Amino acid sequence: MHRLYENNDIAVFWDSEKCFHAKRCVGESPDTFNPARRPWIDVTKAPTAEIWQAVRACPSGALTCVYRHEIRVELDEANTRSVAFDGEKQIGECDYAVISEGWQIYHTEVAPDHAGKGIAKRLVYKVAEAAERSGNNVIPTCSYAAAVLSSQK
Ligand code: SF4
Repeated sequence: MHRLYENNDIAVFWDSEKCFHAKRCVGESPDTFNPARRPWIDVTKAPTAEIWQAVRACPSGALTCVYRHEIRVELDEANTRSVAFDGEKQIGECDYAVISEGWQIYHTEVAPDHAGKGIAKRLVYKVAEAAERSGNNVIPTCSYAAAVLSSQK
């Protein structure tokens, strides 16, 4: 399971397959990470610095985070993609096809002048989370998406 949580400053990624429930995150930021709550992660409940520290304390790599750089990432389900915007300008997208086996992610791209900000990972997670929430398999044929979803990036 892949989940993306964002506040005004950061985007936090959670990969449930890597989480071994050591609860270091809970100890570091109990208002953010609360296993008794659904969703159990809420990145609006504590200062960003505290959340960042909690993510860094995760021993499994299940939690990762990046700064948002004021880049907005949205799901555009009507056009089977997620899209990243800098203001009103589109600066990236992740495209998928709905096939009988699930949602096939086949293309991810971010403008070169926005490289290195974690935007592509946010785009892939946006699609993967939506697919999983709607009960669909995620099938990455794009090599970048495959690496992200297998937790190599
Ligand atoms: S610290 Fe990491 S491994 Fe432990 S519960 Fe939190 S997310 Fe899971």
